[in-house]
Amino acid sequence: MEFKALHLYAAVMVLLLGSSVNFIQSPTDVLGPVALLEPTPSSKSDFGAVVSDSPFAVMRPESSGDIALLLGALSSVAPSPRATVAARGAGHSLHGQAQARGGIVVETRALPRDVQVAAVAHGHGDSGGATTMPAYADVGAGALWVEVLEECLKAGLAPPSWTDYLYLTIGGTLSNAGISGQTFKHGPQISNVLQLEVVTGKGEVVTCSPTKSPELYYAVLGGLGQFGIITRARIPLQLAPPKVRWVRVFYDSFETFTGDQELLVSMPEQVDYVEGFMVLNEQSLESSSISFPAQINFNPDFGSNGRKKVYYCIEFAVHDFQLNGSSADHVVEQVSGKLSYLKPHRYSVEVSYFDFLNRVRMEEESLRSRGLWDVPHPWLNMFVPKHGATQFKDLLMDTVSADDFEGPVLVYPLLTDKWDGNTSAVVPATAEGVMYIFGVLRSTDPARCGRECVERIREQHRRVADEACRSGNGGGIGAKQYLARQPSPAHWRDHFGSTGWGRFAARKARFDPRHVLGPGQGIFPRTD
Ligand code: FAD
Repeated sequence: MEFKALHLYAAVMVLLLGSSVNFIQSPTDVLGPVALLEPTPSSKSDFGAVVSDSPFAVMRPESSGDIALLLGALSSVAPSPRATVAARGAGHSLHGQAQARGGIVVETRALPRDVQVAAVAHGHGDSGGATTMPAYADVGAGALWVEVLEECLKAGLAPPSWTDYLYLTIGGTLSNAGISGQTFKHGPQISNVLQLEVVTGKGEVVTCSPTKSPELYYAVLGGLGQFGIITRARIPLQLAPPKVRWVRVFYDSFETFTGDQELLVSMPEQVDYVEGFMVLNEQSLESSSISFPAQINFNPDFGSNGRKKVYYCIEFAVHDFQLNGSSADHVVEQVSGKLSYLKPHRYSVEVSYFDFLNRVRMEEESLRSRGLWDVPHPWLNMFVPKHGATQFKDLLMDTVSADDFEGPVLVYPLLTDKWDGNTSAVVPATAEGVMYIFGVLRSTDPARCGRECVERIREQHRRVADEACRSGNGGGIGAKQYLARQPSPAHWRDHFGSTGWGRFAARKARFDPRHVLGPGQGIFPRTD
């Protein structure tokens, strides 16, 4: 420990003195391989592939104690603008949020990634089957959700709330929100955490929960990596169904599509998952069907000569516990009978729970095989209050050209009462109880869309976001962006709103007063 502390002290001195220290050629010269390492290509890149900032060094912590040493050292001396630290999980950020120009990137994947499943009492699962509940998993924050799923399934259990894609870390999604088709029923992933271990910006290792150090617990959930580095999390578990009945139905009216989605999310006893997407062209129908192993005989007329028609698809799922007398097929029949989709376009398949949750992996493999995974991703994710959903869809369609759009446009409802207002996550203030997530998840082919084209798309998204985020009083929709790096501290203040900003800034002053953490978000620039 002392050895590390000594080398960390040297690292801090290097950061303080900055680039004027020309006799030091690289971090390893003074630090040795234990504490800090040379920057790696991944430390200055992410999934978005539009920002690339090189850090001074990379740290691969073996324990929360290693991180505590680093942050303790950096916060105990007057800092320089270079002394910043970013946690990096799987690096699936879109705008450099896990990067630290000239600072230190802490790779949380290096932390112990053990998943310890604990089942403590006998009872009944929410689907009626006998199970051992309540149960939870203690997991390293650098573990991927797919690793957690694999381990929990061995005990027949699983976390209730997911993201669509599972190759993201626990710490990464909990720093945002973590949403998917289960969110209407169980809330986002940040509403499904029993306890956290966090190293604060001051280098203190704290175990926190809703009752123990609650201010830190709520601060880091949705906290964009600003207050501490999450090192462990305790996630509640529920009984995992062996199979899932997965259904798709098609629409040609946005209002009917969203009306049926809202009907589905009002039936949490029957329905376990609700999402949906826009069908812009043949290609989007094809690519969205990669993981859905059913023959789809839907051949819509997308129009021609500038008269483009758009379709919509709802997907919902029912967990199948394969119990005598309660058939998922029966539930699907009952629920479908209440929907107003384009008859007869209902398609349904039964898949294993693992394959269902891991469905985006197949899309990843397909995009990789076409050279379209490691490309720039100018994505736009917006939480839109229910009353503004149609207006936002129209705004979006003014900027999206169906001819060359590659990727899904997800649209599905979330229930605001499943979000805990104490966390740092930002969602629209709406009394309607329903908001929509619009996810414009675009991949750009470098052969057809170079740097300028990507910038143009990002600029369009900026305009759409500015327009949609204007408050209701200002004639706008009052939407909020998700997963975005705001372009300036002033934009961040608008994003949080005056009350939210006051609380966020107070949390920063308390847990990371020297603004060491999370420089890639651009929220609290170093001033000293
Ligand atoms: P990183 O990109 O490594 O980090 C993200 C942010 O969190 C950074 O600010 C970083 O500093 C901070 N951070 C990382 N680890 C920690 C930690 N341990 N403690 C404190 N701060 C930390 N999101 C959804 O909600 N639902 C989805 O369905 C969904 N699907 C996605 C699909 C794809 C293909 C991609 C690329 C992203 C998707 N996302 C989705 C977004 C994803 O949840 C976020 O980008 C998330 O941050 C990624 O996790 P990560 O481990 O890659 O985080």
